[in-house]
Amino acid sequence: MTQSTTELAFTTLPSQNLVSEAELAVILANPGFGDHFTDYTAVIDWTKDGGWQNARVEPYGPIALDPAASVLHYGQEIFEGLKAYRHADGSVWTFRPEANAARLNRSAQRLALPELPESAFIGAVEALVQADQRWVPDQDGESLYLRPFMIATEAFLGVRAAHAVSFRVIASPAGNYFGGELKPISIWISRNYARAGRGGTGAAKCGGNYAASLLPQLEAEANGCKQVLFLDPTNDNAVEELGGMNVFFVFKDGTLVTPELSGSILEGVTRSSVLQLGRDRGMNVVERKITLDEWREGIASGEITEVFACGTAAVITPIGEIKDEQESIGDPTAPAGEVSVSLREELLGIQTGTVEDRHGWLHRLA
Ligand SMILES: *Cc1c(COP(=O)(O)O)cnc(C)c1O
Repeated sequence: MTQSTTELAFTTLPSQNLVSEAELAVILANPGFGDHFTDYTAVIDWTKDGGWQNARVEPYGPIALDPAASVLHYGQEIFEGLKAYRHADGSVWTFRPEANAARLNRSAQRLALPELPESAFIGAVEALVQADQRWVPDQDGESLYLRPFMIATEAFLGVRAAHAVSFRVIASPAGNYFGGELKPISIWISRNYARAGRGGTGAAKCGGNYAASLLPQLEAEANGCKQVLFLDPTNDNAVEELGGMNVFFVFKDGTLVTPELSGSILEGVTRSSVLQLGRDRGMNVVERKITLDEWREGIASGEITEVFACGTAAVITPIGEIKDEQESIGDPTAPAGEVSVSLREELLGIQTGTVEDRHGWLHRLA
């Protein structure tokens, strides 16, 4: 029977194989990032004829997939990333999930996947976190990272949008990314590779963009850098973003600048939140093109005082230096800038319930 999407109710199939309390305590003592997965997963199936159906929370485990499933051949896949935070009173909250639901649907459109109603997206997150409540860590800087994703499951090798799809959410406890210390990172300037092109999938959150970023990422690591900076060589080397984080510049006069959404930049939820926090502080907040030349000159002249990257996983990360074979811009040993640090503290404070949620960004999960 086809269920109308507005009434998708989640059935929970209890796990017979829960991680023991002792094992869980060991994991939560040092969660890392993306290393451990919870007891459950939320799933909703879709078919072209039946729509979204069979919403359930089931025990975490391998997916049975036909070897001809189109996700394995043509990469028809999209994903999201958000976090659940435990507040001091024990309650569990997430941050702007409707923004992730909306972005999932923009990605779905680009990858010719079906759109998922916002209520089903948030319902899946709620149902999963309720089943996995004991996995939400409670130490400073820790969270339960939530990874919703959608894959084409139809077994068919012809090239077209799949007629069978599965949406899932998995969860993984995440530690404090920096072990408490906020140390500026070095970034490698990618000259030979792009993560996105005009008309491509840069604005969609899809696995293919990440696959394309892995080779330049290896190059970055070989040169002592943590991440890659992607530029648009067809547009004066306009700064785009890192492999999975947006970029911001703080100017001497208090202006906050981030590259405008050009079609090849991913619109981060953190990016949009930082723009709002900047406006709230009365900063001059500007989305515009900013080139590598302006970056170089701005650092040299002192016009640009801070640069930082932002995204859900690492929140706000100061960028100390960018470099390639020819040049280095910035100072890898400089301490984190004041504005970067205070924006980070404010955003983390809102997420973890210690700073007032002025914009109604928090959503209670448990
Ligand atoms: C997910 C992602 C970001 C950050 O988005 P948030 O919603 O802030 O986590 C930035 N760039 C790329 C390419 C991404 O995939």
